Amino acid sequence: MEEKVITHMRLGHTGFNFILDEIGQHPTGLCALCNQPETVQHVVLECEIYTEERRDLRTQLKEEEKQCVQDEREHLLAKASWKVLSALIK
Ligand SMILES: [Zn+2]
Repeated sequence: MEEKVITHMRLGHTGFNFILDEIGQHPTGLCALCNQPETVQHVVLECEIYTEERRDLRTQLKEEEKQCVQDEREHLLAKASWKVLSALIK
């Protein structure tokens, strides 16, 4: 379901006001809160309505990045250990 939503947003197939305005289904195409064109970029990156969600996402991404760095370190250490063992065996 999430992948479907993301794909629709990437393609611009959304029910956001900017698109609805283009097909005559919204009077202004603007965000009701910010009075800016309600585009995917606005909703995902700028709209004040989602400030808290963006902050939570940044926190989650930082945690995932830390885990990736940790996984990479462990992988490198494992490889280094294998190289050291290989050198000792020779
Ligand atoms: Zn907005």
